[in-house]
Amino acid sequence: MNTLGFSCACGAVTGSIATATTAEGDFVYCHCTDCQSVSKYLGAEDRILEQAGGTALYQSRCARLSIASGKDRLAGLHMTDKPTLRWYATCCNTPMFNTYANGKLPYVTTLLANCEAEGRAALGEPIGHLFLQDAPGDTEGLEPLSMNALLRRFFKRMVKDTFSGDRRRNPLFDAETLQPIAKPRRLTPAERAQLAGS
Ligand SMILES: [Zn+2]
Ligand SMILES: [Zn+2]
Repeated sequence: MNTLGFSCACGAVTGSIATATTAEGDFVYCHCTDCQSVSKYLGAEDRILEQAGGTALYQSRCARLSIASGKDRLAGLHMTDKPTLRWYATCCNTPMFNTYANGKLPYVTTLLANCEAEGRAALGEPIGHLFLQDAPGDTEGLEPLSMNALLRRFFKRMVKDTFSGDRRRNPLFDAETLQPIAKPRRLTPAERAQLAGS
């Protein structure tokens, strides 16, 4: 079974996603404004953003994530009023994962730019590209994927996570309260306006 090892840019935060296969999770690119802006905000565009502003992501069941080192370096950001929580490594400002605001909707989306080449290659081709309407540059030849199509796939994983108890085995959330292990910060309206204008 494929294991997807990851590391932040400086190497302080490391870990892996177990059972990272195309049957057990989804490899997609997301071109949404928020995915682009988190990388811009943290100054990590060169590392993270690929063709047409796309971020390569692997969405998997939440308990597949293990943090081997640097867990205390992880912090969460909300880019907007939406519930998506963007986890990054504070040691080197590397965006690392996306989750829901709390552990009640169980999923972990891992940024593949931080993953070792071998594990990433085993995922093959992406199933599609989300939010191509937000993409800067040329999107010719990129296969669109609707959020509803991804949600239908996520729903099956969510049912398994909820009924198996895996929902409480996500290292980013407290097992009891399902709240994030670090209190997230929400960008101020001024910060958002500055990012939108950049
Ligand atoms: Zn780091
Ligand atoms: Zn996105």
